[in-house]
Amino acid sequence: MLLRFIFLILPLFILPVPLLLEPWLTALGDAEKMLAGTLPALLAVVVVLLGLGLKHYRAVWLSLHLLLVGSVLQLLAAQPDENPARYTALLLASASLPLLQLLLLMLPERHLLSRYGLRRLILLFGPYATLLLLWHYAPLMLTEWLFTLPPSLLEYTFAGFTLSHGALAWNALLVFLCLGFVKYRPVDTVITIALTVAMLIGLSRPDTPLIGNSYHLLAQLMLVGTLIHHGYSMAFLDTLTGVPGRRALEHLLHSPGRRYVVAMLDIDHFKQFNDRYGHDTGDQVLRMVATQLSSVKAGGRLFRYGGEEFTIVFRGKQEGEALLALEQVRERVANYPLAIRDQGRPKDDTAGRQKRHNKEARKTVNVTISIGACENEPGETPEQVIKRADKALYLAKEQGRNCVRTGRERPRSRRRSRSDFAREAG
Ligand code: GH3
Ligand code: MG
Ligand code: MG
Repeated sequence: MLLRFIFLILPLFILPVPLLLEPWLTALGDAEKMLAGTLPALLAVVVVLLGLGLKHYRAVWLSLHLLLVGSVLQLLAAQPDENPARYTALLLASASLPLLQLLLLMLPERHLLSRYGLRRLILLFGPYATLLLLWHYAPLMLTEWLFTLPPSLLEYTFAGFTLSHGALAWNALLVFLCLGFVKYRPVDTVITIALTVAMLIGLSRPDTPLIGNSYHLLAQLMLVGTLIHHGYSMAFLDTLTGVPGRRALEHLLHSPGRRYVVAMLDIDHFKQFNDRYGHDTGDQVLRMVATQLSSVKAGGRLFRYGGEEFTIVFRGKQEGEALLALEQVRERVANYPLAIRDQGRPKDDTAGRQKRHNKEARKTVNVTISIGACENEPGETPEQVIKRADKALYLAKEQGRNCVRTGRERPRSRRRSRSDFAREAG
């Protein structure tokens, strides 16, 4: 969670860096300048290879797009100032940049070599190829067309930045539209916006190609960061619930510290729940349980152990403190009213909508969890502690479910679980 937060706000802080480094950049020697010119392209190769390996095709497309904009930038910088087509091309590039970035953010992830991939390739290269052809063969036509637009839309130079009012407004609008995706793809959205702003700053400084290059480099670096984040999530986070998975637990248990408590948690009668309400509702329950468990107190760290089982590790804590926190989450899960969609859904859409609006048509159920917990003993390996916690969990199941056991309790008479769906099913 913290990692994601840092990742989301980091672009805000690194965006001004190339501008702050401008005096240092301009003082670089020719050899260094040439190296700085080729570095973004080298990084783009890294992004494309990493993106293909991790199957994050959006990063591949974004990287290729940046490479294209970066090439346009270099081409423009090499032109004499007085060439009117230079400003025209700059304007068009700053107009197509945010539009294509937004389209790449909107389109769903698809394999590069599918027919969707081919369409995306045309979408990317098409506008730039047309732009370059026009710029090369009919520069005057473009410029004449531009002069038919209101001058106030085209001109804007402020503190050394050359960017038209029109381009600024257009970019602001499309960045605003990008924000609509923040709920669905937070990391990709933030990165798309940061890349757009970075390349726009680069485009607005056509006379200092090193600034453009630095922003291109920064943008490709951000993509490398995105891919590292994506690789981390794939390796350590559970896709269904978003909480750390088994691999992350194993990593933590390599060095759990001198004293720790391990708790194994299992949803009660989950098979019956799936059978009764369907696998999708079962998944919804798993997500709800994960959300409730992740707020566990006493510094407990939650992991999805597998299936409908979770593990919580309390490092540096004693059993008593951990048990208190576990009792709290057990109760929180048991008291959470889960809204279940009525199974007998009408086929007719209107009737369905009416039924969804009618609160009585939706019923709520409660699920319960059983917990086995124990503190490590001197000389015990983490695997042995997990085994003991597992035995305690079986004891909790034996003794009626919806309870916490440490394995030291004396056997009690069996009591029924309070989960109401199980009662109904039974
Ligand atoms: P008990 O109270 O003894 O734990 O009974 P149970 O039915 O929960 O135990 P059991 O281990 O027999 O069933 C576990 C079920 O969890 C079986 C499987 O269908 C379900 N399950 C495991 N992983 C998932 C998942 O990712 N999604 C869904 N919907 N169900 C899952
Ligand atoms: Mg189980
Ligand atoms: Mg179970």
